[in-house]
Amino acid sequence: MNRIKAGAYLAVREYLLKNTSQAQLDKVFDSLEENDRSVFSRLVIPVSWLDHGAYIRFLLQADKILGKDDRTLISAAVCYEVQKNFQGIYRIFLRLQTVEGLIVQSANLWRQFHDTGKATTKIIMPGEAHVLIEEYPTIPLYHEVDLNPSLEELGRLCGAHEVVSEHTYCMARGDNCCDFKVTWKR
Ligand SMILES: [Zn+2]
Repeated sequence: MNRIKAGAYLAVREYLLKNTSQAQLDKVFDSLEENDRSVFSRLVIPVSWLDHGAYIRFLLQADKILGKDDRTLISAAVCYEVQKNFQGIYRIFLRLQTVEGLIVQSANLWRQFHDTGKATTKIIMPGEAHVLIEEYPTIPLYHEVDLNPSLEELGRLCGAHEVVSEHTYCMARGDNCCDFKVTWKR
């Protein structure tokens, strides 16, 4: 089992609760397979570790049941999570960063939020960077529903415009690594 820190899940759940209701959210948990459901029925606090795959499947089911099944709702929930993580002094820190600098630092943070894999970055040119994830062949399918909006929101918090993150290669689809291509305008 590969795990992630629970803080992201808790912030996403908070967003969904604010925008829907506990009864609606219960429908999402009820729709999960038994194993996945049990991950969320335990006491979860920010420093807990959660199964990465269960978290991604929770996001997908939330989007399907509470949203339009087009990833708009979960992208908004993930952006809320990023904003929550970077408040006050941290927000000011982000404004002083270049997107390139921030992407390099976000790769360094990978192992603080995941127990598997290694992230590195490659700056291709001004306005284009790549985040590579390696050594995680069991990475869950569709994990980009979490990382794409996170990278885009981080870029926007640095003051960049038209930030787009695309998941071009994926280990879950048989590629050697996961590649996220991030482009933006200043
Ligand atoms: Zn991938």
